[in-house]
Amino acid sequence: MNDKKGKRLSGKVAVITGGARGIGEGIAYRYAEEGASIVIADLKEKEAAETISRIESSVSKAIFIKTDVADTASIEDMVSKTIKTFGKIDILVNNAGISLMRKITEASVEDWDKLNSVNLKGVWLCVRAAVPHMIKAGYGKIINISSISGLVGYKWESIYCSTKGGVINMTRELAVELAPEGIYVNCICPGIIETPLYKDIDFPLDDKENLEHTLKAIPMKKIGMPGDIAGAAFFFASEDSSFVTGQILAVDGGYTSI
Ligand code: NAD
Repeated sequence: MNDKKGKRLSGKVAVITGGARGIGEGIAYRYAEEGASIVIADLKEKEAAETISRIESSVSKAIFIKTDVADTASIEDMVSKTIKTFGKIDILVNNAGISLMRKITEASVEDWDKLNSVNLKGVWLCVRAAVPHMIKAGYGKIINISSISGLVGYKWESIYCSTKGGVINMTRELAVELAPEGIYVNCICPGIIETPLYKDIDFPLDDKENLEHTLKAIPMKKIGMPGDIAGAAFFFASEDSSFVTGQILAVDGGYTSI
């Protein structure tokens, strides 16, 4: 049976890692609009508070749990606080991630370890901590946020591409392993989406040269917005995807179709 019309995630509890800003924030708003209770699991307290205050002006409840997805104890604490507050986890969005543009000849082992611990190990750790509760409930929707950099080679991103490629095949394995438990696992590969991440990697998209260079590679000739990813994340969280698992969906304005 389909979700009820109107608030289609009503009664659901969604954990969104990295939900304080950017793509995760966009997903948090969309899920809240659809009636879900939200857990923002992030390092950034101030940004999370702003996101939560906007969510709470809707009917949904939202809480922030300070979480480092690279740290096993921190994730276990986040999951146990979520269960204590809401009693369950229906939806887990593994969105927290960091990026790095660095030539292979300049990248260090520390860079490798840092990106892997957040982008790849972090996803695995969050799934491992949440899944026992989903198995108990016989239901779960896991949505992993990879990247077009997991599908194609993106220059100077050897480490980032490796982590995001790993997330894609982890998605397929988890889908197969967890399907008998009623748990769905799907993956979104965002294209170029306007978020603060680009400033962090010193490639601001408001720079004319960066923007022109980037748009050349996008058939739709525009940069995506967090809301564009939220639509796909809603599909994978809702009953509209009731026979969909193990899928990898690029939301990229055609970037990977050339
Ligand atoms: P962002 O930097 O704007 O937001 C990322 C959020 O993750 C931040 O709130 C940050 O505090 C949080 N975070 C980082 N490390 C964390 C940790 N160890 N523990 C908990 N939270 C942590 O980035 P974004 O652009 O919104 O990216 C979100 C996801 O989408 C990432 O996984 C990124 O790799 C992926 N992605 C982004 C783009 C893009 O164009 N923006 C493209 C492809 C994939």
